[in-house]
Amino acid sequence: MNLMSNIYPTEVLQKIDAAHHLHPFTDTRALNAEGSRVIVSADGVWITDSDGNRILDGMAGLWCMQIGYGRTEIAAAAHRQMLDLPYYNTFFKTTHPPAVQLSEKLAELAPAHMNRVFFVGSGSEANDTVFRMVRTYWDLMGQPEKKTILSRVNAYHGSTVAAASLGGMTTMHGQGDLPIAGIRHIAQPYWFGEGGDMDPDAFGVWAARELERTIDAIGEDKVAAFIAEPIQGAGGVIIPPETYWPEIRRILNEREILFVADEVITGFGRLGTWFGSDYYGLTSDLMPIAKGLSSGYLPIGGVMVADHVADMLVDKGGEFFHGFTYSGHPVACAAALENLRILDEENIIGRVRDETAPYLQRQWLALADHPLVGEARIVGLVGALELVPVKGDRSARFDPVGRVGMLTRDISFRNGLVMRAVRDTMVLSPPLVISKDEIDMLVERCRKSLDEAYADLKRRGKIGS
Ligand SMILES: *Cc1c(COP(=O)(O)O)cnc(C)c1O
Repeated sequence: MNLMSNIYPTEVLQKIDAAHHLHPFTDTRALNAEGSRVIVSADGVWITDSDGNRILDGMAGLWCMQIGYGRTEIAAAAHRQMLDLPYYNTFFKTTHPPAVQLSEKLAELAPAHMNRVFFVGSGSEANDTVFRMVRTYWDLMGQPEKKTILSRVNAYHGSTVAAASLGGMTTMHGQGDLPIAGIRHIAQPYWFGEGGDMDPDAFGVWAARELERTIDAIGEDKVAAFIAEPIQGAGGVIIPPETYWPEIRRILNEREILFVADEVITGFGRLGTWFGSDYYGLTSDLMPIAKGLSSGYLPIGGVMVADHVADMLVDKGGEFFHGFTYSGHPVACAAALENLRILDEENIIGRVRDETAPYLQRQWLALADHPLVGEARIVGLVGALELVPVKGDRSARFDPVGRVGMLTRDISFRNGLVMRAVRDTMVLSPPLVISKDEIDMLVERCRKSLDEAYADLKRRGKIGS
């Protein structure tokens, strides 16, 4: 039967989904008891479910829908490319125009010292590629003992084996006996959750110096790289204190290790700059990208490689025994190119920087006055609200952790706004094309949802007096 056209009732779709579909990051048993929400169409910043509800997508899909849903130019570019050349590989001394053009465009957009890209299908594949490139680089440099890669607790770098190992999520490590050997996780710059008695600036310096202390403990001659997201996304939109990145920069300048800036979320405009590295003034050696590269219209990712690393891999490396059937997939490249053209020509990132981000920020930060909110933070169009049982006490947590976040998320969905809950932190990352009117609606729905969650907790005696 033709399910795509949504002629079947929601219950039928849910029943089939429950019988046959294993969802990612999902307790399938719990989901099946409740039934999946079925999304059938979308336009701009709005998604529509199978019952006809229009919901403001405050998460840009999964942090990826920069240009908004429903852009026919992307569909047309993909259609044209499918007719010309729907697929060919880039392995055996071959290439094709979309991959050529996209590599050139990325070299133009990326920081000046990065001029080459290795194409992959996703952010996870990008980080598995990073893992092998980093170690191969030091082998070629004649320092094969430089193997340890430093990452951070609560980082997210993807779900494949090396990416999940680089990530710092203990729940993920618990499944599949991860992390693999040779990875060390240091403290994250999460002042609200872990800053203790320190003020944010002092904590930022302390967290950054964990990198220095760990390099010294292991020995610089054994450390290959440090990988980090400019702002941790899936970990709960953790925006480092202002002192953090400058101190990390100082340490990296003094040490001979590679720096990998995981730009899978922060790339392509999320912070009001093309890359998070531009926002924080970071110079990286490798830069994994995905998500906003195609605004999610088709799956594609890549690793941008700094010239000095690429030169080594190219000049001394011989064959790099690594790649994917869909590395540089022509239709995905064509969609990405069109997405970048739209971002560029419509000045979408400039508008985020100058207009919509400051506009949202004012209203978002004002949510900190809500009795359920312990902290509101935001950079560009990515923000978070820390929900707390005792306002003014950063050490107090809901018990069990996560239930109030989930409650608030469900209420928000019912109120026509997608937010995501990470623990009891609400996170927000709307499409970059969101208008000021839509921002007003977003904040109004968010506040209403906080009110309802608070009232519900109060009624059940779970909060306050
Ligand atoms: C989403 C994400 C990834 C993984 O990307 P996938 O396309 O889901 O494999 C890697 N790094 C960061 C920072 C991400 O947010």
